[in-house]
This record gives sequence, C-alpha cells and structure tokens, in this order.
Amino acid sequence: LVCSVAVLTACAAHDKATTAAVPTNPTIEAILADLTLEEKAGQLNLINFEGELGETHYQMIRDGKVGSLLKSNGAAQNLKLQKIAVEQSRAGVPILFQEDVIHGYKTIAPIPLAEAASWDIPAIQQSAAIAAREASAGGIQLTYAPMVDMSRDPRWGRIIEAAGEDPYLASLVAAARVKGFQESGEPGQNILATVKHFAGYGASLAGRDYNIQDLSERELREVHLPPFKAAVDADVAAVMVAYTAHDGVPLTANQYMVQGVLQGDLGFNGLIMTDWATIYNLERAGVSANAEDATITAINNSIHMDMAAKKYVELLPQLVRDGKVDERVVDDAVRQVLMLKYKAGLLQDPYGRLNEATEKAELLSAANLAATKEMALKSMVLLKNDQQTLPISDKVQRIAVIGPFANAQKDLMGWWPGLGEAKDVVSIMAGLEAEFGDSVELTYAQGVTIDRFNKAGAELIPEAVKAAEQADMVIMVLGEKEWMSGEGGGTASLHLPGLQEELLQAVAKTNKPIATVIVSGRPYVLTDVAKHSDALLQAWMPGTTGGTAVAEILSGKFNPQAKLPVTFPQHQGQVPIFYSYKKTSHPFVAGITEDRYTTTYRDAPHEPLYPFGFGLSYTNYSYSDIELSSATMTMDGSITASVDVTNTGDVAGREIVQLYLHDKVASVVQPVKLLKDFTILDLSPGETKRAEFVISKDKLAFVGIDYQPTIEAGEFELFIGASSDDVKSTEFTLVE
Ligand code: BGC
Repeated sequence: LVCSVAVLTACAAHDKATTAAVPTNPTIEAILADLTLEEKAGQLNLINFEGELGETHYQMIRDGKVGSLLKSNGAAQNLKLQKIAVEQSRAGVPILFQEDVIHGYKTIAPIPLAEAASWDIPAIQQSAAIAAREASAGGIQLTYAPMVDMSRDPRWGRIIEAAGEDPYLASLVAAARVKGFQESGEPGQNILATVKHFAGYGASLAGRDYNIQDLSERELREVHLPPFKAAVDADVAAVMVAYTAHDGVPLTANQYMVQGVLQGDLGFNGLIMTDWATIYNLERAGVSANAEDATITAINNSIHMDMAAKKYVELLPQLVRDGKVDERVVDDAVRQVLMLKYKAGLLQDPYGRLNEATEKAELLSAANLAATKEMALKSMVLLKNDQQTLPISDKVQRIAVIGPFANAQKDLMGWWPGLGEAKDVVSIMAGLEAEFGDSVELTYAQGVTIDRFNKAGAELIPEAVKAAEQADMVIMVLGEKEWMSGEGGGTASLHLPGLQEELLQAVAKTNKPIATVIVSGRPYVLTDVAKHSDALLQAWMPGTTGGTAVAEILSGKFNPQAKLPVTFPQHQGQVPIFYSYKKTSHPFVAGITEDRYTTTYRDAPHEPLYPFGFGLSYTNYSYSDIELSSATMTMDGSITASVDVTNTGDVAGREIVQLYLHDKVASVVQPVKLLKDFTILDLSPGETKRAEFVISKDKLAFVGIDYQPTIEAGEFELFIGASSDDVKSTEFTLVE
C-alpha cells in the first residue's frame, strides 16, 4: 500500500486492520484445526453446479471441495446436498447455501429502486424480512443483497438494484435492508446479508456495465461510501467487491480500497467475497500475469471467498506448500467462512428449516403477497395528473387498455426475479379486470411489439387507435422488457424502446383522456410521453402483485404517495443529472444570476423533467413558512425547524416532507442542497400537522479537505418542502 497524503487516514487505519483479530470462537477453532489444507481451500470455494445435478457434483461435496453453493433449487435439493456434506465428507462441514435474493425469493417485491421511492424505511425493512423468510424456508442462508451502488446515470442497467441518487436516503435503505434480512424474523427465518459491490461500481463509465470507473476520492467518500458505511454499521455479515477497477486497480486486487477503506476506515471485519470469477478477471485486466499471481494477490488482499473462479480450491494448497502464500492467511479466510456458517446456525444444526412443509407454507403465502402489494402501492410515483384524469371517474364506462406491457407478467418482476415465476404475477390487465369487474368495459390492444430495441409492430397501431376511439378513456401501459435493465442492461437511448412513443402519439390524436403507466427499471426520458398523456404513473417493475397495485391506484382505492428517489431527465444528453449539484464559479449567461443557470447547454434546458423527491397525490398539500427554534446554533446544541403541512384537498393522503441543508461557505464546495431528513405525515382532508426536524451537529458535517468529517461554523440555508425543487427556505448560523 502506497501512502500518499491523500490516503493517510486510510493507511493508518489499514495498519490497524491487518493486525485486527479475525472474529472467532471455540467451535470454529476446533473445526479449523481438523481441516486439511485441501479442505481449507474447499471452504473458500463458492460455486454453482453446472448442468444437471449428479454424481460428479456429489463427489465434489464428499471431497470437501464445496464450501458454499449458489443458484440452488429449493429445500428438498439443499437438504439432499447438505446430508452429503455433513454425513459423507470427511470433515462434515455443512455447505452455506447462497442466492441472489435481491427483491424477493418467490413472492417478488417491487425492484429496489421502486422500494426506495416509498421512502418508507420500516416497510423496506419488512420487505427484506419477507424475502428472508421465504429464502430461508427454501434452504438459503445468505443473500447477495443489499446492492447499494450509487448511480446517477440511468443508462446503467443496475440503477434498478439500489436506492437512487441520494446518499442519505440510500444509507437509510441500506441499513433497513440489512436488518430486514438478518434480524427481523424469528430465529431460523433470517438470512445473512452481503452488501455489494464495493465500491464505485455505479460510476461505470458512460453507463456501460462492467466498464472502468474513474471517480475522485471526494466523490467516492461523499457519494459512494455512505451506504456501505450504513450497512457495515448495521452489522452486515459479508461484502462483495465490484467487478470494476478503482483508480486503475480492480477491486479484488485493490488494497487501498479493501484493506484501507473497507477494513480500515469503515471498520468492517467480516467476510469479503469476490464477484463472479473476479480472481480470473485480474489476468484478463492485465494486472496479474497468471492464475497463481491472481490468487496470491486476492488472498493477500483479504478476499476470503472465491465466487466461481475456482482458483482458491485449485491453487491455494500448492501455493501454501511452495511457501508463496502464508497458511495463516488461508486460516483467517476459513475462519471468516466458518463464522458465517456459525452465524447462520449451520454449525449448530445443519438442517435447520430444510423441509418441504415449511417451504410450502411460506412461499407465496397470503401474508407475503398482501405485504408485497402494499409495498408496490407505496412505491408508484404519480408524475402528472391534469384535469383530475385520475382516479378514474365513475362516469367512465369503457376503457381501452393499450400497450405492449398491459398483459406483461415476467416484465413486472424485473431483473433478479429470484425463484419467481411469471405465471404467479398479476398483470396490469388482470389487475384492472379484478378491480373494475363488470362496472367498466375493458378492451385491450397491444399497439406495438417489443422484441428487441428495433422499431417493430407499426401495423398494430391502427387497431389500438380504433380501440381508443371507441372508449371513454385510455390507459397506456408502456415501458421496457425485464432484460433491458438490470445486470448488463445498459442502454444508450433513454427513450422508450421500439415504437412506443409513436404509438402514444397516434392514440393521443383521438383526444381521449390518457393515463399512461410506465413499467421500467430506470428513469426514461418521458418528456414526450408526458406531453401526450393527461396523467402519468411511474409504476417501475412492481413485482408479483404489481397489476393489482396499479389498478388500485388508478381506481383511487389507494392515494399515491411515493416520491422519486432519482432525477428524471428532460433530455438524455443531461445525464448524469442529479439535484445535489455544486455551484460553479462562472455565471456565463448574461443577465441571469440564478446559480442553476450557470452551467449551460445551448440546445437543451438545465432542469430535469421531474426532480428528486417529486411525486403527486390525489390531494394537495400546503406548507407554512419554516419556524426555527433559534436562528443560531452552537456546536454542542441543536435547533428545531418546523412547518405546518395542511391537506387542502378532499381525500386523505400521506405526504413525505423533506428537509435539505446547504452550507453557504465551506472550505470545500458544497452541493446547493442535500437531503438531511424527512418525515411522513398522514393527513385527512382539511387536517394540519406539524413536521418537526431536529438539526444537530452531525447533519452539518461534510467530507473535509482532508477527507475527514468536518463541521465549520457559519451560515446555513435550510429548506423544507415537497420535493428537492419545491421548498420553503430560511437560514441559521452555526457558532463556535
Ligand atoms: C453480479 C452479482 C451477483 C453475482 C451472482 C454477478 O454477475 O454482479 O451482483 O450477486 O453475479 O449471481
């Protein structure tokens, strides 16, 4: 590790980290003492079984070469494999079963980005707890979630998997999901969590997945690290390193990041695993000359578990015998693996909940489906609603439901559908049919086809227009296929794929009221879509019960309350666009003094289409001016900021009231606004409630010039409002 001034803290911490004791206990030490070198290497091996399960796989388990398995297939199969490990391998160490339980196991919840739009932290924790309950019943003990990679580039397909653009909101979500997986259920109903992908993967250049990242130390610490810190502070069991290279060094080999930042600065002392075959990738990236070098580099960088590269299991024993790897380093990695097995209860009872009766009762249970629908309702963002197009009025008798996603099932689950099956998903059409029954006549027209990104299906447009002409109103269901976002799901165009915009324009010519529902895993550029729609609902990929949730929002049974966790661009060239930008020094546009105009495009506006924190409701809220308990705050004290929020409409609603701060003069340029708190108010018609926020010192800290948390006295702007762009403001002074 080369220590420059910039990384001194991490280096100092690094010295501590490498000497820090690996967590252990007598059970683990006894097992470790019994293992041969080959068996130790086997414990570090995390693989998936290729092809049909059979004798070769069983023999690998008997030989002690399978420490952990991923991509398993339910309780019965895992029980069978576990019995082989425990009863037929020499050392009898149980297998740790792992899976990508990202947003549900069998009951699929809305995609993580959608869940973040609820801003409902207890509900997000509960959603992870349900996934854990189902997964544990299916024989899984560890998930590769939460994914907390910050992304401000909707071209990147994996924006679907995290909590949006804001580090504060993302940190709360990260901690909630860790707790939801690890500790919210009864004993045996929890699974271990893995926070990933450490770190900066969301900055993949140009939105192309697996691309290099080139971000400053400042951006790393201000934007990308906070949710990892939150997960570590919430006691996450494991960390997965990213595919990418940070500052030129792949994360698997990056000592500064892994030993300096993760183990040092963030104080993580649990298990660290690779992403898929990233030890092999060290050769591919050209930082290791061969597989042996790559293996030595990874194990010496505290990478304890090898996912899919099979390098540890194949090469470590010989490398130890040749004196190229210290056996104590291998032992520490094995301790980490055994500690996970211990935490999962496997060393105490290897068969745990592994039985089909528990599995059957848990998967897709009525309670899980109901909670998942609730989460979907809370996550859908109403972006536009002119002339009270929504909720659908009683007068509407005939509705044309148009679009390639109206009947979609698989696409509603999105990327990482776990063991979810399309047949279990309520499509939007089915949801509408159930909600409106015989009271409304629903006709369906596909409108266009979406096979690939090509412009296909124009011949279906006239039929859709005809359906619209014969209806009182139109529900358009547009979006993207499940494989278009998620891992590897980069997109260069942020316009809806295929001929969907053309379809909407053709339907709009009928002048029928149009409510458009968007099924997507990312923000699309909805500028033209909004123009041709009277109402617009961002439904994301809402999961198993998604169609029911959409129908209940359109009918008005549920009043939308979600707010965007990510900025929606107005033009795709604006990407990356986010609310917490920093002021630049040169107000170039003559006559315009507002800061937001000081960076310019000549052919496009600077504003997003919909800002971070934005979302409408079927009612309206008014905000009073802000009251401060005091206009000065001392370093050891705190002040309270409050507003009265009134529901001025005629239906009950839930408003997410947001607090932002801006440090006016600081030694490091500060964002114009940063989310620091929020509260959720339930308001019946006419009701007023007070939102109160306590401002304490920790809310005023920023990453200082030395990369340490820093607080500087001086003036602060304080904003409270309904979105990052719709706020009241005041000021206070922090005194020494
Ligand atoms: C992804 C990880 C995932 C792993 C195992 C990788 O390609 O980047 O997020 O957990 O596969 O499925």
